[in-house]
Amino acid sequence: MSKVFAVYGASGCGRSLMPVAVDQLQRIDDQENSQIVFIDDALDEDANVNGYTAMNYAKFKNINSDDKLVLIAIANSSIREKIAEQLVQDGISLWTVKGTTTLIMDAVSIAAGAALSPFVTIAANVTIGKCFHANLYSYVEHDCVIGDYVTFAPRVSCNGNIHIHDHAYIGTGAVIKQGTPDKPLIIGKGAIVGMGAVVTKDVPAGAVVVGNPARPLNK
Ligand code: UDP
Repeated sequence: MSKVFAVYGASGCGRSLMPVAVDQLQRIDDQENSQIVFIDDALDEDANVNGYTAMNYAKFKNINSDDKLVLIAIANSSIREKIAEQLVQDGISLWTVKGTTTLIMDAVSIAAGAALSPFVTIAANVTIGKCFHANLYSYVEHDCVIGDYVTFAPRVSCNGNIHIHDHAYIGTGAVIKQGTPDKPLIIGKGAIVGMGAVVTKDVPAGAVVVGNPARPLNK
């Protein structure tokens, strides 16, 4: 029976990741009769998105194959978690996708469902949780620990010995100062780091920080 691959989300994130997924399919996961589609729940009927068939999840579930792999290409981490749990319940595997220019060094552990865009670098001795998104040109330096459902916009500079907890969001071009082995710099659960921020110290869970040096956003 043929394998079915899908990119879940046919908006900006999904359309940018589909070519990476297709390229990976041809290079690594190549299967004689495999097919790849978009899943998007905004669709009542099948549509054509950039040349690929797009369908809602109910329709995807009905495709006759025991071997389905899905990359969740939606930036919102709570939605990613909700969808990931549904997929697991339905016996559908999370798919990790990376580009030809994505560089992964030694002793790196990445849980299922990651989207590692072109020009992303993951350096040595890094541990990453479920459904990580690292957008174009982001890097994660040595000895970082990244939780589940963490999201990096493009060009995030995550230096060495940083711990980022679940559901944190790091905006485009943010730079996070390196920690030390005995005192890693910590970005707390669900924290948001604004675009271009320069983070020099720990960010508490749920905080929103912006600027250089990054400070809590005054509401
Ligand atoms: N979406 C979906 N199922 C959900 C939630 C969202 O299919 O449960 C789709 C939604 O219809 C939209 C896409 O995911 O097409 C999210 O797109 P958005 O532009 O909000 O964000 P991005 O592409 O940047 O992640």
